Amino acid sequence: MPVPVVDSPTIPSGLPRRPTRWNQSGMSGGPDWHSVYMALEILLIECKNCNRRASIDKAHSKLHLHQGNMKTIASTKFRCIMCGHTAFRAYIPNTQDQIDMFMAGDPAGTMKQVAY
Ligand SMILES: [Zn+2]
Repeated sequence: MPVPVVDSPTIPSGLPRRPTRWNQSGMSGGPDWHSVYMALEILLIECKNCNRRASIDKAHSKLHLHQGNMKTIASTKFRCIMCGHTAFRAYIPNTQDQIDMFMAGDPAGTMKQVAY
């Protein structure tokens, strides 16, 4: 059952809380993993070096992709499996179409880009 939310950076006793705000103003560093969770639980990333694209879901990133994780995506390290570079662009899709188009190689369009 939903529990009243207390603004706290930590999750007491490991119980997932249900934040009401996921765009906390005053936070720098861009979107966090919780924002991904609240969208489609998919993060799309693109290697800045070789442009390889990948979708990150919970199967790939149990460590990060969970409710209440306020760690920013920008502070998360990824390594391209093709070229080994760690610089990437990331997008948080809101529709399955956006995921399909991105993975098909189409421009990212209006998706929310995580700035780097
Ligand atoms: Zn690459």
